[in-house]
Amino acid sequence: MGGGISGVATAWELAHHGVRTTLLEAGDLASMASGWTLAGVRQSGRHAAELPLAEAAVKRWSQLAEELDADDIEYRQGGNLRLALTEDDVPVIRKVVEDGRRAGIEMHFLDSNQAIREIAPALASDIPAASWCPTDGQANPGKTMLAFAEAARRVGAEIRANTPVHSLVTSGSRVTGVQLDGEVLEAGTVIVAAGIYTPALLKPLGLDIPMNVTLVPAIQTVAVEPTLAQVLGQAGGGVALRQQVSGQFRITGIASDWRHERHTHDNVQPSLAQIRELIGAALRLIPNLEDIAVNTTWGGLIDKTPDAIPVIERTPEYDNLVIATGFSGHGFCLGPITGEILADLAVEGVTSHPIATFSRSRFAAGVADDGVTLHG
Ligand SMILES: Cc1cc2nc3c(=O)[nH]c(=O)nc-3n(C[C@H](O)[C@H](O)[C@H](O)COP(=O)(O)OP(=O)(O)OC[C@H]3O[C@@H](n4cnc5c(N)ncnc54)[C@H](O)[C@@H]3O)c2cc1C
Repeated sequence: MGGGISGVATAWELAHHGVRTTLLEAGDLASMASGWTLAGVRQSGRHAAELPLAEAAVKRWSQLAEELDADDIEYRQGGNLRLALTEDDVPVIRKVVEDGRRAGIEMHFLDSNQAIREIAPALASDIPAASWCPTDGQANPGKTMLAFAEAARRVGAEIRANTPVHSLVTSGSRVTGVQLDGEVLEAGTVIVAAGIYTPALLKPLGLDIPMNVTLVPAIQTVAVEPTLAQVLGQAGGGVALRQQVSGQFRITGIASDWRHERHTHDNVQPSLAQIRELIGAALRLIPNLEDIAVNTTWGGLIDKTPDAIPVIERTPEYDNLVIATGFSGHGFCLGPITGEILADLAVEGVTSHPIATFSRSRFAAGVADDGVTLHG
């Protein structure tokens, strides 16, 4: 269940391999994180445990439109620049480059403003250093979601939007189905990829996932001439932005705590102060954005685990239950591989992707706390 990128990619994988599949989505497809996202597709600066998944995902992204028989999902490998804004940021950026190189990714350390502006001339003239990963990129989240959903439908998946799952139905150590409005839908295996609502769905089964939901403001401008091909991030988080194929700038960042049980239209809107702060941070990177008109603003919720890496497992407690949540602000890039992993876990019970670090059991042992940082 869950019609975000994790859910639709899984529905595609399963149905494509001949597995009878029903995808249940409470609202519209991509109505939560997978629609709110910046949609950077990034390997650089990843947690070491996520890196193999991100690298595998980038290989899939290059072929994804063709694989899904879609027109253009606007995947562009324009690279990712993570910027040092002060001299104190420079060692942070240098470490991102060293870690990336050690992991075998092509990463460059740009130690002059001239070198940075040769790649991205629109950037401010006083940024002292940056990391540069030319194989990172970006995509159009709406078009990607639609491409996955249509491909999944074509090979027989049933996709039911506006169909909230109220609870999981269990018998002993098996999940036998899900409770919908006035109907129990039986299932051989249940996959829960319900973003921020996953912990509440699993709690009645005695399964705990620690999660802090954070709100991230986002701004989209009107379309202007193309001036930026890269996704920009910043040392230590802050703002992340990109210029879409449409010409619009999409700007996100600066997370704050969000303390509500359920989301509504109003309680996910960013405050004026948050929008002001985000605009200030974006103008610090690209001063020439100043005259561009704002088209839309929104707030996005992030399913943040304490260590800012996801939970992905076939649960030990319920043999036919598979879960994926807690992507902590960087699960869009991973989507195509998350789909592969969840389909593997559902059908085979195991996957060849390295996911041991993502089991829930790590929380019992205690994990280091990490903040939300968006880098595209
Ligand atoms: C502002 C912002 C910027 C981001 N930037 C990036 C980025 O640049 N790069 C990147 O890789 N990632 C980024 N992310 C993170 C990324 O978007 C998410 O990690 C990813 O989209 C998560 O996908 P998902 O399918 O797991 O969850 P979601 O997209 O949240 O999907 C879960 C779905 O489950 C549905 N659901 C919930 N409860 C139920 C229920 N009971 N019954 C049925 N359906 C239910 C929801 O309606 C929702 O559609 C960003 C996120 C935000 C908010």
